[in-house]
Amino acid sequence: MQIYKNQTLKIYNSIAGKKEVFKPINEGHIGMYVCGPTVYSNVHLGNCRTFMSFDMIFRYFKHLGYKVRYVRNITDAGHLVDDADEGEDKIAKKALLEQIEPMEVVQRYTVDFHNTLQKFNFLPPSIEPTATGHIIEQIEIIKEIIEKGFAYEVNGSVYFDVVTFNKTNNYGKLSGRKLEDMIANTRELSAQSDKKNPQDFALWKKAEPEHIMRWPSPWGDGFPGWHLECTAMSTKYLGKTFDIHGGGMDLKFPHHECEIAQAEASNGVSPVNYWLHANMLTLNGKKMSKSTGNNIYPNEMFTGENPILSKPFSPSAVRFFMMQAHYTSILDLSNDALLASEKGYLKLMEAITNLKGLPTGSSSNLNVDAWKQKCYDAMNDDFNSPILIAHLFEAVKHINLIKDGKESITANDKTILEETLNTFVFEILGLTGVNEDGNGNSKKLEEVVNLLIQLRNDARSNKDFALSDQIRDQLLAMGIQLKDGKDGTTFNVS
Ligand SMILES: [Zn+2]
Repeated sequence: MQIYKNQTLKIYNSIAGKKEVFKPINEGHIGMYVCGPTVYSNVHLGNCRTFMSFDMIFRYFKHLGYKVRYVRNITDAGHLVDDADEGEDKIAKKALLEQIEPMEVVQRYTVDFHNTLQKFNFLPPSIEPTATGHIIEQIEIIKEIIEKGFAYEVNGSVYFDVVTFNKTNNYGKLSGRKLEDMIANTRELSAQSDKKNPQDFALWKKAEPEHIMRWPSPWGDGFPGWHLECTAMSTKYLGKTFDIHGGGMDLKFPHHECEIAQAEASNGVSPVNYWLHANMLTLNGKKMSKSTGNNIYPNEMFTGENPILSKPFSPSAVRFFMMQAHYTSILDLSNDALLASEKGYLKLMEAITNLKGLPTGSSSNLNVDAWKQKCYDAMNDDFNSPILIAHLFEAVKHINLIKDGKESITANDKTILEETLNTFVFEILGLTGVNEDGNGNSKKLEEVVNLLIQLRNDARSNKDFALSDQIRDQLLAMGIQLKDGKDGTTFNVS
């Protein structure tokens, strides 16, 4: 269904600094690129929030009936430790530290990334390309940029000439920075630097003999600069100009600014119509940081094994917590905030369950059609999920009043209410029911294990300890641990 024809969607476009009516290049189609993770460590909860915002946006576009090509890359080479052009490659550094191949590092943390996103019920992107899989494309873009006079080679490295580019184009238009100010605020280049100006950035870096990730190129063995991969992969799969480019707020400068410069220099056109930036997640009011210990990983949320948590939280409760903030606002995570969100999430799920059994009457107290449009209006206003959730709770209030016999609903309105709640809660916000994954599997597993617990209890009361131990041990061998407590037996799945 082409719902988009009846809805006006406005998006906050970072490059315009305001909300704009969204109009795709080709009617009914959307090309969207989001900068993916650098796979050298376990995915951070803050990164999960960024990707979750774009998952929600992807889901809404799909619901509206757009055909979306969503490209989210994997950075498996070229991202240097200090985010500029110095220091070691993040992946090579980890490989040396752990005495394994760089591609083993990449594989390990790509798997972790996918597993984590699956727990949060993400939809997979349409294409998930890697930087190392697009070295040829990156080399071709560098050649073009050199040919057009916006890059220069020095000692086997190639740099983008920001000063020359800025004479005909505007370097800084996304981040609102001015090149003159940047130049005034930077120190002189060190004597060893090959760059003409400190603002220039690497398109290709010469690999020193000890650098293990290296590829041949017209300028000798080396590796691509980090910014280049996104230009290569977005152009290849979405075209020279595409609809949406997203990423974390921290990528706006220099990463996205450099992407614009590279694309304009090689293709002569602006690459992106709408730039979207998701804001960060803080922990107890402070920036998350591994070095200070003010940090939390997704798995610690699910097991509760982190000093700041009083208990574990399900992926859906965490997802609901994230969706309660607008994607462009900073969100602060704390145990109290999670407890409050979990309560809200359970209340919402309970109402959805109760709705099925509600009696219908001859009139409705809630104007369901108007309420449904309010839900769309919230999402049409730059994907305002917190306002949407407020509307969902308006429905919850009515469901509870109808259940208590204080209000009524017609059969037709009840059907619309049920469909709309399912659409916004599960399809668009991407939540799952209590104890369910996207396929409802955990719920079935829980039922099966509870049946086995019951059979084990029967065996024990019949003094058939051989059978009761067999059930316990075989479940354990499958990674399901039974725990006998005062209130009966519970289980853990590892
Ligand atoms: Zn990128």
